[in-house]
Amino acid sequence: MTATTPSVDAAMSQIIAAEEEHVAHNYHPLPVVISRGEGAWVTDVEGKRYLDLLSAYSALNFGHSHPALLAAAQEQLNRLTLTSRAYHNDRLGPFAAALAALCGKDLVLPMNTGAEAVETGIKVARAWGYRVKGVAPDAATIVVAHGNFHGRTTTIVGFSDDPQAQADFGPFAPGFASVPFGDAAAIESAITDDTVAVLVEPIQGEAGVVVPPEGYLRAVREICTRRGVLLIADEIQSGLGRVGETFACDREGVVPDVYLLGKALGGGILPVSAVAADRDVLGVIRPGEHGSTFGGNPLAAAVGLRVVEMLQTGEFQRRAKLLGEHLESSLQTLIGHGVTGVRVAGLWAGVDIDPAVGTGREIAERLIGRGVLVKDTHGQTIRIAPPLVIRGTELDWAVEQLRVVLAA
Ligand SMILES: *Cc1c(COP(=O)(O)O)cnc(C)c1O
Repeated sequence: MTATTPSVDAAMSQIIAAEEEHVAHNYHPLPVVISRGEGAWVTDVEGKRYLDLLSAYSALNFGHSHPALLAAAQEQLNRLTLTSRAYHNDRLGPFAAALAALCGKDLVLPMNTGAEAVETGIKVARAWGYRVKGVAPDAATIVVAHGNFHGRTTTIVGFSDDPQAQADFGPFAPGFASVPFGDAAAIESAITDDTVAVLVEPIQGEAGVVVPPEGYLRAVREICTRRGVLLIADEIQSGLGRVGETFACDREGVVPDVYLLGKALGGGILPVSAVAADRDVLGVIRPGEHGSTFGGNPLAAAVGLRVVEMLQTGEFQRRAKLLGEHLESSLQTLIGHGVTGVRVAGLWAGVDIDPAVGTGREIAERLIGRGVLVKDTHGQTIRIAPPLVIRGTELDWAVEQLRVVLAA
């Protein structure tokens, strides 16, 4: 099945058909074929330009082809790309030191994808539970939230409540309890003597940029501290500048015990993820117990270090905050005009589309024709997460295109 629409040019349809012939259909891409990217803009194979309001789900926070990130990658490509952790390399230490400092933590455990960072967080929490907290062998539980998205491994989809993520992939790993998102009392009730961690997204991205009630994270922090449970914040999508702060937890002045990072950490160039925590937590992992052939490779470390340096200035966080306020006020004007709800945190928005004007997917497809790329999530929502380098005038133009498409 191809996703082509009549508006798609014949040459483009051919490329899409050729791809779909040999690529498993685990995604349903929008019918556009990108061949170049620069800043907030991408260009298709026909030379048509589009404003990218998705940024690869926030993996491109710094935009496409950011010169400083490309330079870091290119310099490293010419020197050393991979050693495995069988040896030391001269890039991992500086990256880990900078990232630990950005997180205010002692240690970093480098991985590649977000799902691996989540898996690592789960393993660390369990090992901490048995070795430090004194939980009985194999009894550890972790509390998670309804509507969560933490990745696609079998353990992780096992505690998802999205039927599509789960169907026909069981049996699943035990040891997780799921409670409503945004309800701190429900977390407290789910905690037992065997609970080792609470794992939450401070803002749920995949669910449609769902922002919990003010005070939720502070309450969860207090509960975790009082009950002797680790707070693990999955900041893979919400972190690294997106919400106008370095981390979404910063919005409530909350410091989790464990940060899970990914996506933008790789600068939009390669997969880089990490777990950051203090020595009393992350120090429980001993040589031989966990690893990854590519985790902490020198190319990833060189790019990741440059990402951290770019965040150290605060410039991107400030941009996200200012542009986000601007975006929020312009999106609010669409309510009642094809939009039923808007949730915004920094430069990150979930826009609920009135079913009377179409599905999220239909709006995304119509926006292609007007040079704007967004992605739908959960049927009626479109997610807007532009590169943080986007200009205010470009955002205004994009919202105008959305207004036109909604009125059509
Ligand atoms: C994307 C995402 C993940 C998974 O990251 P991958 O790199 O796709 O494995 C985990 N948690 C959150 C919150 C995410 O948005």
